[in-house]
Amino acid sequence: MSDCLFCRIIKREIPASIVYEDEHMLAFKDIDPQAPTHLLVVPKRHIASLNELQPGDDQLVGEIVRRAAVLAGEHGISERGFRTLFNTNRDAGQTVFHIHLHLLGGRTMTWPPG
Ligand code: AMP
Ligand code: ZN
Repeated sequence: MSDCLFCRIIKREIPASIVYEDEHMLAFKDIDPQAPTHLLVVPKRHIASLNELQPGDDQLVGEIVRRAAVLAGEHGISERGFRTLFNTNRDAGQTVFHIHLHLLGGRTMTWPPG
């Protein structure tokens, strides 16, 4: 997906503050942080939204979720707590159509979310 923003970050065509990378995923700082810690964990393979996930993606999604928890520990927010979420399509406010797990922490979150 040559026109996908996150594919372009993965290919290093657009700069980002990368905090983790392996064979399957990349994690980087959100450009417009909504909390003191706001990271995005994205698969390297282009998947537009959770609606496109296939059974064969289960391990990948598990690795992404577990990596978010590890990154929370590295950023010192495991004990206080953190929020992880995927926005999907219009009602949730998805703006980049390449799945990304938001990891937010470092402040008290409200519930229900807006
Ligand atoms: P969503 O609204 O769930 O699709 O989230 C997209 C996120 O990507 C937003 O939190 C944006 O601030 C973030 N974002 C957009 N462009 C960039 C960029 N170039 N680098 C890092 N994060 C970005
Ligand atoms: Zn993409």
